[in-house]
Amino acid sequence: MTKRVCVIPGDDSAPEAVLPVLRLLRLMELDLDYVELPAGDEGQARFGEDFARVCREAIDACDTTLFGSSSGKTPALAHLRWGKKTYANVRPVRYIPGARSPLRDAEGIDFVIVRENMEDLYVGIEGDVEALRPAALTGRRGEPLPEHGRFAVKVITDANSRRIAHFAFRLARQRRESGRPGRVTASCKYNMLPYTDGLFRQVVAQVATEYPDVEFRDYIVDDFARRIIADAHDLDVVVLPNLYGDILSDEAAALVGGLGVAASGCYGDGFAYFEPVHGTAPDIVGTGRINPTATMLSSAMMLEYLGLGEAATSLRRAIDDVYAEGSVLTPDQGGSATADEFCAAVAKRL
Ligand code: ATP
Repeated sequence: MTKRVCVIPGDDSAPEAVLPVLRLLRLMELDLDYVELPAGDEGQARFGEDFARVCREAIDACDTTLFGSSSGKTPALAHLRWGKKTYANVRPVRYIPGARSPLRDAEGIDFVIVRENMEDLYVGIEGDVEALRPAALTGRRGEPLPEHGRFAVKVITDANSRRIAHFAFRLARQRRESGRPGRVTASCKYNMLPYTDGLFRQVVAQVATEYPDVEFRDYIVDDFARRIIADAHDLDVVVLPNLYGDILSDEAAALVGGLGVAASGCYGDGFAYFEPVHGTAPDIVGTGRINPTATMLSSAMMLEYLGLGEAATSLRRAIDDVYAEGSVLTPDQGGSATADEFCAAVAKRL
């Protein structure tokens, strides 16, 4: 049966990447229907307050969503992330020869960050410390709460840590089948936060015992931030709580060409959506400087999710060919091509 893809271009520069990628997908003549929503400004003008409902209904009517990125004008993320409980944010970090890396030898870097997507500091509970006073909380060494100040709540649960750990170990097994080492590395700040990050660490280590065929390592997150650069070639699957996953995946992206090439997919039970790691790049809107590779590679992940593995492989190969050839690259990769020109070069390779 023909699958349906909801395409949400998003805000600022994001549509300048999503729309050429959508044209490319259409050229591939796959058995897919695309339900295209307007970009943020147009959506606000057409639907006003109703835009959130329009997004929600389109998302629910489709098998998956390709999402640009939003600065708030396109109200889709809340439904995609929390409405659909897409708890596993998967961010591949693969070097494409020809991409601009700060490393002398980036060739062979190929790992995946699996970021827990539902909890940690992202539960969004902040306030004034005065509100905590009735709980008579004290620090680890018995020190009282400061008189004034603000707090943010970090929540780590056994259930969500277990779920993301299983996801990471299953992915490591899958990757081993295609020749990768089959290794999971976990990281968090368990020394300073033994009750919350300590729980994450303990649960992941426990889950590791159920996968004796998969090698398991874990590191304190500051040490791991260094290892991402120093030992990038040894990494395979990396599992992280939400905040560290968010920060370290931007760091990891820098190794392989930056945000312009960093793809991601967010997976829940029975639903997934796909978006580049980058935001809406408001500083380059209308300049033709956006690199659509991140959106294109996110689309390749989407095609795989939809059971179109061969099309995904062809798309990745065509992208790799354009980078290897090197004459049609966007400014972030040292070239002068626009997103449209880059997409045309990939289309030609396809
Ligand atoms: P957010 O908070 O949503 O992540 P942001 O504005 O902090 O958004 P980005 O939008 O990701 O961050 O942009 C960070 C920098 O990277 C900007 O200078 C932007 O122009 C650049 N950038 C992001 N994506 C791309 C891309 N696809 N191609 C070229 N440059 C990009």
